[in-house]
Amino acid sequence: MPQPHAPDLRRHIRVVPDFPKPGIQFYDISTLLAHAGAWRTAIATMARETEPFVPDRLVAIESRGFIFAAPIAVQLGVGMAMVRKRGKLPGRVHSHAYELEYGNDVVEISADLVVPGQKIVIVDDLIATGGTCKASIDLLDRVGVETLGCVFLIELIGLGGGDKLGVPYRSVLQLPA
Ligand code: AMP
Repeated sequence: MPQPHAPDLRRHIRVVPDFPKPGIQFYDISTLLAHAGAWRTAIATMARETEPFVPDRLVAIESRGFIFAAPIAVQLGVGMAMVRKRGKLPGRVHSHAYELEYGNDVVEISADLVVPGQKIVIVDDLIATGGTCKASIDLLDRVGVETLGCVFLIELIGLGGGDKLGVPYRSVLQLPA
């Protein structure tokens, strides 16, 4: 079966209006995952964007980031670590609270997986406001891990999310918010 090129990936992403609340245009990657060729192209393209950063390890953001980071890490021959929302990780964790539009949230990483001086790349499915990714960068920075860059499948344009990160980033698809 011929593999789709990266720009063709757009048609494998289902757009769901008004989900999870009115006014949000939700980009559903389930339809891309269900298509073997599109899925393979997505991973190959994201791996190509990740490789030049030469990371020691990947860091994946809960939860769809896990789906993308895992095969990219295997392809590049590096390990990965998970950044999760509060209360999901066992044992000792490092936590970082950050502001949301309404209220705040907390991201965590397992303390015994943190290696100060390590250089990582963050992988997630989508960047919107950039809040979650920036919180993850700040968490890692506080514990001495350097974020070399971030790689996303989708970047929502017009929200300024990428500019907020303070590190280089790459996105495969740029779509309207
Ligand atoms: P943000 O912190 O605003 O950049 O939001 C990023 C996280 O929220 C990502 O992990 C996405 O999975 C999810 N997300 C935010 N907006 C959308 C959207 N319009 N469609 C699908 N996922 C979204």
